[in-house]
Amino acid sequence: MESHDVIIVGGGPTGLGAARRLADLDVRDVVVLEREPEAGGIPRHCGHLGFGWQSHLRIWTGPRFAAELRKSTSGLDIRTATAVLELHKDGQLRIQRNSGLGEMKARHVLIATGTRETPRAARLVGGSRPQGVMNTGALQQHVYVNNNKPFDRPVIIGSELVSFSALLTCRHLGIRPVAMLEENPQISAPRPGDLIARFVFGVPVRTSTKLIAIEGSKNVEAVEIERRGKRERIICDGVIFTGLFRPETALIPSGLPSKKFSSAGNVTGPLKTSGECWQQGILAAEDIVKRLA
Ligand SMILES: Cc1cc2nc3c(=O)[nH]c(=O)nc-3n(C[C@H](O)[C@H](O)[C@H](O)COP(=O)(O)OP(=O)(O)OC[C@H]3O[C@@H](n4cnc5c(N)ncnc54)[C@H](O)[C@@H]3O)c2cc1C
Repeated sequence: MESHDVIIVGGGPTGLGAARRLADLDVRDVVVLEREPEAGGIPRHCGHLGFGWQSHLRIWTGPRFAAELRKSTSGLDIRTATAVLELHKDGQLRIQRNSGLGEMKARHVLIATGTRETPRAARLVGGSRPQGVMNTGALQQHVYVNNNKPFDRPVIIGSELVSFSALLTCRHLGIRPVAMLEENPQISAPRPGDLIARFVFGVPVRTSTKLIAIEGSKNVEAVEIERRGKRERIICDGVIFTGLFRPETALIPSGLPSKKFSSAGNVTGPLKTSGECWQQGILAAEDIVKRLA
């Protein structure tokens, strides 16, 4: 079975930061496994500015930042289109790649699988299942990667910072959200985000407003909402579920021995910036060197 000193699961800012640092510290037998066709993680799909400051003292778009990370790790063993399906306590991994299933083994495994927004299914929203319902990540893929406009007048669910990213992403292709809905009495992002949304982008932010159901047969036609005990319909043609991030921990069985496994970046907790994750990758690499000694 193929065996290595370190296997890093996930080729986002955390995994690539760790891979670069391990190479600099002379740990040569390191493999990064990334399920997407290209390394770089979430920033690959984020066409807005806001990346690179903590790591490179530059302000780049996400794809530019991801490209810089790939450049800084060129020559290292980064295997894309390779998904890790299972981790075992002895450091063995079950993987899937284009050529089929396989097994690998490492003295140490760094888990850097990031985080994901809570999808519709987990939010218990009623109604039908038309096209045009997605999270911010999928929206960004449509807009920035495929240059595709999935709808014209969606509602945005949530008011975290990422919800405002969704707003900016919409603007990129001239999509004009009809409203941003927040269940709590106040927005989750810092104020005056709501005022900026309303007065700069023309999108009203409705707090204390819960999405009850999505209507539409083929495409979204409206949403039903509840505000202070009253039901109402908003006509729209799409729904963007934003935020409520959950670490991508599906892979991690309980009781993994800490000598053989560690984790870093967004998989470890609340959403952090890409620069913080890159830094965490570096720190994780330094810690791994000590554990391997
Ligand atoms: C919409 C949005 C906007 C954002 N805007 C900004 C911003 O402006 N500035 C900023 O600094 N940060 C921003 N962030 C946050 C930033 O993108 C993250 O902090 C950063 O990408 C986290 O890095 P990571 O490597 O921990 O995880 P990720 O970037 O999520 O990378 C994890 C990688 O692991 C891979 N993976 C997962 N499971 C497996 C598996 N089983 N097998 C193989 N590979 C796997 C994934 O494909 C992915 O490539 C934004 C995030 C979102 C969602």
